This record gives sequence, structure tokens and C-alpha cells, in this order.
Amino acid sequence: MPVMRPALLNPLFAPVSGLKGVGSKLGKLLTRLLRPAAADGQEARLVDLLYHLPSGLVDRSRRVTIASLPPEGIVTLEVTVGRHRAPPRGRNMPYRVEVFDGTGFMTLIYFKVFGDHVEKLLPEGERRFISGTVSWYDDLPQMAHPDYVVTAEAFAQLPMMEPVYPLMAGVPARLLAKAARAAVERLPELAEWQDAAWLARQQWPGFATALRLLHLPDTAAVLEASSPPRQRLAYDELLATQLALLLVRNRMKREAGRSLRGAGDIRTRLVAALPYHLTGAQTRSLSEILHDMADPSRMIRLLQGDVGAGKTVVALLALAAAVEAGAQGALMVPTEILARQHFASLTPLAAKAGLRLALLTGREKGRARDDTLTALAAGEIDILIGTHALFQEGVAFRDLGLAVIDEQHRFGVHQRLALQQKAGAAVDLLVMTATPIPRTLALTVYGDMDVSKLDEKPPGRQPIATRVLPLSRMDEVVTGLARAMRDGQRVYWVCPLVAESEQVDMAAAEQRFAALTQDFPGMVGLVHGRLRGAEKDAVMARFKAGEITLLVATTVIEVGVDVPEATIMVVENAERFGLAQLHQLRGRVGRGAASSSCLLLYQEPLGETARARLSILRESEDGFRIAEEDLRLRGAGEMLGTQQAGLPVLRLADLSVHGELLAAAHDDAALIMARDPQLATARGQALRVLLYLFEREEGLRFLGAG
Ligand code: ADP
Ligand code: MG
Repeated sequence: MPVMRPALLNPLFAPVSGLKGVGSKLGKLLTRLLRPAAADGQEARLVDLLYHLPSGLVDRSRRVTIASLPPEGIVTLEVTVGRHRAPPRGRNMPYRVEVFDGTGFMTLIYFKVFGDHVEKLLPEGERRFISGTVSWYDDLPQMAHPDYVVTAEAFAQLPMMEPVYPLMAGVPARLLAKAARAAVERLPELAEWQDAAWLARQQWPGFATALRLLHLPDTAAVLEASSPPRQRLAYDELLATQLALLLVRNRMKREAGRSLRGAGDIRTRLVAALPYHLTGAQTRSLSEILHDMADPSRMIRLLQGDVGAGKTVVALLALAAAVEAGAQGALMVPTEILARQHFASLTPLAAKAGLRLALLTGREKGRARDDTLTALAAGEIDILIGTHALFQEGVAFRDLGLAVIDEQHRFGVHQRLALQQKAGAAVDLLVMTATPIPRTLALTVYGDMDVSKLDEKPPGRQPIATRVLPLSRMDEVVTGLARAMRDGQRVYWVCPLVAESEQVDMAAAEQRFAALTQDFPGMVGLVHGRLRGAEKDAVMARFKAGEITLLVATTVIEVGVDVPEATIMVVENAERFGLAQLHQLRGRVGRGAASSSCLLLYQEPLGETARARLSILRESEDGFRIAEEDLRLRGAGEMLGTQQAGLPVLRLADLSVHGELLAAAHDDAALIMARDPQLATARGQALRVLLYLFEREEGLRFLGAG
């Protein structure tokens, strides 16, 4: 059933260009500002404008005289208009108007004057109030293009407090403020969705009032993240997010699951074939997973474990249990490289235990693909490993019992929801992530998914020596690498993805490849996202086999790549990466018994925050600590690159400030779901509106019409 937005909200989802004073030109600019990454190419809408909150306030109430003008800033003063000095005809010079008060003179400056605009605005001898930014030239005060030039009557009508918005070049501040004011006027009356007692206790305003207070602020305090209207809106957004997660989860939980209980024979053989003992954390997590699988309700469990914690073998054993119970398993990973790597490393192990594995990615085509699909439908394949191609049309299992999604943070939230749907009704679900998501963020992504943690690394891992160096010391780095490579060490060299242009990024990686090839002829390989699959495989295989010893790469190797012989990781322009991402990259080394190192090369000059961030990596290898620190330094939105982390975009809530509200919103959502799972009560109806307002309506698809 399609979900239909209530008509009442339609005005808020109309394009901004329909607002008074916003034409198509400003509309385009606003779209770039407010919906930069909109995949749908849709124009910015009123809600986008409304959720773009002012970051500060211009206080025009600060009245000064010319003699007391400050060195800079916005001022308001009452003056008498003096002489006009128009530039000589045809000369490209500014138009000047002298003004004065009892204390001195100043000059108003206009570039590009059309017609008699300025003459009308500033009739000689009249008194005017002017407001704008003061500047100084040769000790003489000036004001270029005052924001306001008005008469005393008009001055009385002016907003003395004018909001300032986080801006994008090209969008005039006053137009943005005006557009936001116009949007506020279109806010419909909406029934309150928050619990009345809670609202009263918090002393929060209503939704529309909060937006009005923020877009028409009368004190700077109201704009602070901790102010009642900001908290109110943050809470609305967090509640919508939590509710949406619970709706989806409840729906999945309601679907009948099945009990998958194996005899243990395949697992026994697998464990016997492992060259190591499972860690305590692996054993514990596995038994939590097996317990859920044996339970007749559906499993939805997250296995969280830092890079290198050994999630893969836990997944394999869980999949084996599903096979023992007569069902099939699927292991889905985000990249082709990872799919092939898992397939290659698990196949020998599986063979010893009598498990039949197969691989399916976008690259398997024609006969081979048909054969795999036929075998899958006939139940002749026990475990299918692959990319999202696993859940594409035409892929039918005989009896899928357990689906494992590896490195789930690489899949967007929507993608994940879609996959969970596709995996089918009675399928148990295990998602695995290495992204160390701080507790506060974990709630926004997973709601209350059950979690198993691998909080212990396999024994014998050597610490990774991490160094932070400026790019200007490249020569030294190359000399050091030469020595290490002579000793047989293998090196990753990662070039940054700047995301703006893949073309440019590739060029940078190719250039680095060319330069390093000069230094190390015949020993360097290159892999990036544009290579065809087979080419990628060939390069990875040669690196794994030691035929090449230095691998230049983009972040395609970030996730899951396992070449235990590699011991050195160089990251170029490390300051451009998220800390979590750097931690992932670093996790590519330190996988074998030899000691490893990581060189983070940065572009000078390095800002203070950037320096602090990089030094966290030098000090810690604990992914959770790194993530918490990163969150503290940068705020949630930026932390992992929202897109990449599969985090929902939060527009009003800032988890570094509103983190505590998240826990409350989570409990609130759980209570709502317990009391009114169909959102059928009056409050339930209002909550549906809230979900639409924050575009979290996907969860409503599972409910009856309201
Ligand atoms: P991740 O959790 O990052 O997916 P992997 O599953 O790729 O980690 O495991 C990292 C490496 O650790 C692999 O080479 C794997 O064989 C090895 N490993 C896993 N469990 C253990 C263990 N209990 N003892 C020793 N090595 C282990
Ligand atoms: Mg892994």
C-alpha cells in the first residue's frame, strides 16, 4: 500500500520557488544550499528551509554615533544625508553619499547604481536611519551598501533582531531570512503529537511555535542548541527516527520466525579445521546468535566488533548451524572485492566440513550464473556469498534460513530496510559492523536491535605503530618504504576520495601510482573503483601472492580486505578522512604476527581540530574510543560521513548536545508502540504527521490506513 502524505502537509513540501520573493534563480541556489545531495534532484522545499535554522543574530538595536563607531560589525545609526557624489559618466567608480550626525561624517558607498535609485533612497538634507556593516578606509568610516536605509516611521517597523543563517555563497542573507519568514507563515495548525505531561514538564513550545521562535528570534539565547525551542525540535526529530525504526522492527518481529536448531556436526568439523581457537568473545557471541536462531521468533541481531575482531568466522559458524538445521544461508557484503575474498578464504574451510559454497555478484553472468541459480533453487548450494546481487530478482533459494549482512555500515538505511524486506519473512537476520558507533549513535541507527559484541581481539596481535607526518616529508617516507620492502614487507598506499569528482580522485591515484612506480619499478599495483572487476581481482591476487609489494588504492580497500602479510599502511591526505574511516583503513594491517605501522600523511597547514583528531589515532587503537572522541570533536553529522555510515540524516538534532534526548525519545517510542502499535489513537494520528514531517514515513507502510 503506498503511503500518502496528509494533504495538510502539502504546502510544506511544495518547492521554495513558490514562496513570495523567491524566484526560480534563488530557488536553485537554495536547492544547492539545502538539498546538496538530493538524489531525486528535487527542488528544496519549505520544510528544508524551515529546518535550516539560524546560526546567529544581528542585533540592529545597537545604536551608535559616528564618533563612537566600532572597528567593525553591524551598526545602526541615525544620520542626516549630505552631498551625493556620482562617478563621472562611463567611469567604473563607486557612487558615494556623505552623511553626518552631530559627532562626525561618514561615507555610504554604492557600486553599480541603476538610475536614480540612490537619489530617491537618500534625499539630501533628510534624516534617515541606516543599518549595515561598518568598514574603515584611511581612518575614515564607510558603509558599503547599507542593509537598510529607512525613515523614522519605517525604522519603527524593522525587526531589530535579524536571524543569520549558515550561508552559501550567492544567497543574499536578507533574502534567505525573508524566505524563511514566508515559510513560517505557511505552517499549518497541527495537532500536538508529544505527550502533554512531558511537554509541560520540559516547558517546550509547540512545533510551529518553536519554528517561529527560531526564525523570528528576539534574543540570541533562543538560538542556542539547549534552548527550549531547539530542544523541542530536536526531540521531534529524534522521536520520529526512533518511531520509524520501531515500526519496521515490530513488523519484522511479528512475522513468524522459525526455529533453526542444528545437530552441531558441521560446526564441530569447522572448528576442528580452524588454525586457532575461538576467543571468549567469539564463543559468547556465537551462543547468543545460536540461541536466537533456535528460538521460534525471528532473529534480528547486530554483531558489532572492531576491525580484525574476527566476525567472519562467527558468521560462518552461524550459517553452518542453519545448514545443519536443513536450511540455506546467505552472506552479503558491500563490495565485489570483499565477496571474492570471503569466498576464497572460506571455501577451503567449508570443504573440510562438507559445506557447499557459491559466489554471486553482479559479475557472475550467463551460464555460470544460471547454473548457480539452478543449484540454489534445488538446494545444492548451502551458503551463497555475494554482493547485493544476492537479493536481486530471479535469485531464489530453496529454503533460506539465515541471512548475514557484513559491514552493514556501507549500506544506507533505506537499502538495509529494503534488504531486510527482501530477505523474506521467516529468515533470521544477522548484521555485522566494524564501524565503532558510539552508543548515542547506535540508537539512531539500530533502535533496539539485539546486539552481540566482540570486545576482545584474537590473541597475539601486535600494536600498530602510528605516525602522523606532513606530506612535505614524502621523500623520507619513500626511503623508509624502500628499506621495508627490501625486507619483504608489503605496503598499502591509500589516496583520498574527495567525492566531488571521481575523475579527479582517480587522476590523483594514478599520478601517485606513476610516481611510486618510478621509485619501485615492477613492484607497484593500482586498484580503484573504476577498474573492471576482473582487473581488480588480478591486482589484489598479485598483492596477496607477493608479486607486487606496494598497492596504491582508493578507499575501495577500506572494508574487510584481509592480506595478513601487509604490514604498512600509508594514507595520503589523512586529514580528509573521517576518523572511523582511518581506523578501518589502519585495520588492514596488523593482521599477522609481524609488527605493523601506519603513516598518516597530512597536507599543511593543519588546523587545530584536525591535528587533535589525527593524534587520537596515534594514541588509541580502540575503535570505540576513537569514535567517541571524534563525535566530541566534530558532532554526529560529520563524524562518519552520514551517507557512508548509513546513518539517518539528522537535521535539527545535534547528538553532541541532544544526546540525552535520544534515550528519552527511544523510551517514548517504545511506550507508544506498546500502547498504540497501529498509531490509531488521536495521538497516534498526530504522530503519523510527525513521521511525514521528518520524512520517516516508511514505517507507516506496515500499518493500516489511519
Ligand atoms: P573482522 O571482524 O574485521 O571481519 P576477520 O573476520 O576478517 O575480522 O578476522 C581477522 C583475522 O583474524 C582473519 O585473518 C582471521 O582468520 C583471524 N582470526 C579470527 N578469529 C581468530 C582467533 N580466534 N584467533 C586468531 N585469529 C583469528
Ligand atoms: Mg570482516
